[in-house]
Amino acid sequence: MISDKINEIINEQINKEFFSGYLYLSMSAYLKELGLFGFSSWLKKQAKEEVEHGLKLFDYLIERNSFVTLKQIKTPEFEFNGIISIFKILEHEKCITESVMKVAKLAEEECDRTTLSFIDWFIDEQVEEEQTVRDIIKRLELFGEDKVSLYLMDKELGERQ
Ligand code: FE
Repeated sequence: MISDKINEIINEQINKEFFSGYLYLSMSAYLKELGLFGFSSWLKKQAKEEVEHGLKLFDYLIERNSFVTLKQIKTPEFEFNGIISIFKILEHEKCITESVMKVAKLAEEECDRTTLSFIDWFIDEQVEEEQTVRDIIKRLELFGEDKVSLYLMDKELGERQ
């Protein structure tokens, strides 16, 4: 069985992943209202991925015969300021990366090799996630002012499976 400290930090991480899902859903609704259907659909898929991350952690605790403590999920922001609000995702993902790193650090301190190996997947996932969002932002900075480009980007993001 894993230690109380590890149990606590993983339970917190579950909450953070679900909160990420909430935040992205909130942005998705807003962007849909703006008529950016592709961005909206991309974010909704992102939200589903976050829920999957939460469930992965949930399953891990159960597999290790540890306890799941589901905490209250914060209300996400719901007032945004145009397409530029997508920039917030990168800031948020950076916080999540930091938080995943803290789990790894604690696992190291606790000599918990199983959790260390488990959390590696999340570290790789965060690198990928930050990269994807950074690329979207780069392109928005370059072309976002131009309506045709924004339309094309929206269309492309809407094609995400
Ligand atoms: Fe995540």
